[in-house]
Order: sequence, then structure tokens, then C-alpha cells
Amino acid sequence: SQHKDCPLDKDELGRSTWGFLHSMASYFPEKPTKSQSADMTKFFNIFAQFYPCEPCALDFQEDISKNPPKTKSKDELAKWLCERHNTVNAKLRKPQFDCSKVHERWRDGWLDGSCD
Ligand code: FAD
Repeated sequence: SQHKDCPLDKDELGRSTWGFLHSMASYFPEKPTKSQSADMTKFFNIFAQFYPCEPCALDFQEDISKNPPKTKSKDELAKWLCERHNTVNAKLRKPQFDCSKVHERWRDGWLDGSCD
């Protein structure tokens, strides 16, 4: 029988991963406990070690060592992650995303109702 499900290539992995990461940030608490904030910082540091695209992981490690996770609130985390994604977008010569729209994109749906 023919297999159809294949390993993710770099772009499929990237799209799925950004979807997960931005969704997680948009559902992070408004007022996290100290331990939730500390754990989210740890999450990104561990994520950056094990992301399964080596050149991506190495650049991401360097980026977050200069720009450490901001985990004091949902809005702060979502903006920080949007900026990290924009850094990757710039490297790949992709357009910059407007970070004021990050919760519309990943949590609430567009204000024009197109996701309802
Ligand atoms: P993606 O960049 O995957 O974005 C998916 C969707 O997210 C977009 O359609 C848009 O709606 C939304 N979006 C775009 N920008 C933002 C933003 N700033 N904030 C919130 N939402 C946004 N690929 C490489 O070739 N080299 C690398 O070094 C590399 N490093 C990566 C590092 C990480 C941590 C991750 C998760 C991925 C990396 N990738 C890398 C993959 C790359 O970022 C893209 O995922 C891939 O090129 C597919 O791009 P795409 O155009 O489908 O959109």
C-alpha cells in the first residue's frame, strides 16, 4: 500500500510550530503566577535547544539570548513572540507581521468576522 503521510519539511514544520507557539502565547494568562512565568521562560529555552531544524534552532537560540522571553502577561508574551517571528521573517525576506493584530490572528479571529 502507498504511504501518504511523510516527515515534515522545514516549511511545514515551521508553519505548524508557529501556529502552536502563537496560540500558546495568546492563551497564556493575563496575570500569570511567578511559577507560570518562570516555566514559560524555561519552555522557550528548552524549545530552542531541541527545535528539529539545526540552523533554525541555532539562530533562535542566539536571538532569544539577546531578547529573552517576556512572560509577565499574555500581551507581553504574544508581542515578544511576534517580534521573534518577525526576526525570522526578515532573515527569510518575508513580510513583517503587524504585531498589534496577533490576538486577532491567533485567538479572537479577524474583527471583520471572516473567521466566524
Ligand atoms: P510562517 O512564517 O510559517 O507563518 C505562518 C503564519 O503566521 C503566517 O501565514 C501569518 O499568518 C502568521 N505570521 C507571520 N508572521 C507572524 C508574526 N511575526 N507574528 C504572528 N504571526 C505571524 N525557516 C528557514 O528557512 N530558516 C530558518 O532559520 C528558520 N527558523 C525558524 C525558527 C523557528 C523558531 C521556527 C518556528 C521556524 C523557522 N523557520 C525557518 C520556518 C519559517 O519561519 C516558516 O515557518 C516557513 O518558511 C514557512 O513560512 P510561511 O510563509 O508558510 O509562514
